[in-house]
Amino acid sequence: MAQQSDLFKNLVAHCKEYGFIFQSSEVYDGLSAVYDYGPYGVELKNNIKDYWWRSMVQLHDNIVGIDAAIFMHPKTWKASGHVDAFNDPLIDNKDSKKRYRADVLIEEQMEKIEAKIEKEVEKARKRFGDSFDEAMFRSTNPRVMEYSAQFEAIRQRLAAAMTKGDLAELRQIIEDLEIADPESGSRNWTEVRQFNLMFSTQLGNIAGEEGKLYLRPETAQGIFVNFLNVQKTTRQKIPFGIAQIGKAFRNEIVARQFIFRMREFEQMEMQFFIRPGEQKKWYEYWKEARMKWHLALGTSSSKLRFHDHDNLAHYADAAVDIQFEFPFGFKELEGIHSRTDFDLGNHQELSGKKIQYFDPELQENYVPFVVETSIGVDRMFLAMMSNALVEEDVPGGEGARAVLKLHPALAPVKCAILPLKRNEERIVNMAQGIFNKLKFSFNVQYDDTGSIGKLYRRQDAIGTPFCVTVDFESLDDNTVTLRERDSLQQERVHIDQLEGIIRERVDMRQLFV
Ligand code: ATP
Repeated sequence: MAQQSDLFKNLVAHCKEYGFIFQSSEVYDGLSAVYDYGPYGVELKNNIKDYWWRSMVQLHDNIVGIDAAIFMHPKTWKASGHVDAFNDPLIDNKDSKKRYRADVLIEEQMEKIEAKIEKEVEKARKRFGDSFDEAMFRSTNPRVMEYSAQFEAIRQRLAAAMTKGDLAELRQIIEDLEIADPESGSRNWTEVRQFNLMFSTQLGNIAGEEGKLYLRPETAQGIFVNFLNVQKTTRQKIPFGIAQIGKAFRNEIVARQFIFRMREFEQMEMQFFIRPGEQKKWYEYWKEARMKWHLALGTSSSKLRFHDHDNLAHYADAAVDIQFEFPFGFKELEGIHSRTDFDLGNHQELSGKKIQYFDPELQENYVPFVVETSIGVDRMFLAMMSNALVEEDVPGGEGARAVLKLHPALAPVKCAILPLKRNEERIVNMAQGIFNKLKFSFNVQYDDTGSIGKLYRRQDAIGTPFCVTVDFESLDDNTVTLRERDSLQQERVHIDQLEGIIRERVDMRQLFV
């Protein structure tokens, strides 16, 4: 555990030191759970969005994109259920005055039990060596069975309480499990109350409730209310999808874990409109397609897993998370939800306007069903950074390096052009010439601010897959040293070959095959 938290601290420090992420309004001591992306952060973020957009919109002739406004008519959020049901159960500790999510406190207790089970399994694995039968051990060891039973009992109670919105029962579970405030150790809790996560603001020209607006808590509703506009203007036939990338806002109670849980964040959502009754098929289809999207980046399959929801959101008839193993454990990275006709049906009812599709094959009108894929850009960013950051010794006694082994297609800078001597005009001119040529094709960087060793370390730390060094030999034969980030291999190549070699490695197309 201590090791994991060190890893996470290193990651946060690395993000700041190398210009990926800064705390918002840092000069005023920061604004909690709000972050700014720096020069390398914005490049990585744009590449993640580009990968998603191209996979969804460009590669599917039946998925189109939109960019809807953040502000929407307030009735939108009544119809979507967010005004009445987009709540988290909060609880305050009377001694520490700290506020927590009641369900999260209980989940953390469950994680502790899970950790105990894993500890027993690991101990047994060491004891039995090669002959260890893990499945057998899990199902027969008395201690593991007892922990598992405890875990399952809490899971069921929590799921039932959350589904029913039974706040008294949540409070009771906290009491029964003797959960204490993680910071102060106090068990002096208030009652559990519902807290709506939407931020509200006010229109300038209308006073009171009438002019109350919300900052959207999800991008999906901008897609739903535009369903007919998009369908008619693009003449798409069901099944088809609408994709969107944009900001969303949630007044999160527990806003810890860096950019994992923010109050202002970005989502990439796709709503896939289908015939009623076909939701199972499409739900399975998108589960598989989305997992493939993650695996194509080279992320180990042991770091990704599906996790079925115990308590469904108010709009869903089936829901699964793709979880990623962050430095603080497996957590939700993306959600795939079967939303039925909940949203379109409610918008139809509240607006009084028909929101239906005429199916030419079936010769009938219906409100389409929806399967949604929804992923946070920032969580994906954190997943990629934590997956990529490695501290390792450089062979040849050059000491240690921190290197970001990002997939080259996502790397912020694709190639750095480094002159061996910054006072040697001919070398500098040649290096700048290479930079001026490559910059039309990739995000490249010219850097002459230190020794070659230092410049390499800096490029490693921001994840640049290639470094090109221009030296005296280059002046004679137009060759340069091309260094590859992960293997550290260096080869001599002609400058005319550079663009081709780099393109082959950094091209996003390799992710689509
Ligand atoms: P959680 O259970 O972690 O609060 P959620 O189930 O409420 O998440 P969804 O409503 O399914 O999340 O949102 C879809 C995606 O948006 C999530 O999978 C996540 O990647 C991202 N997301 C949601 N809330 C936040 C947040 N506060 N900060 C950053 N990303 C978020």
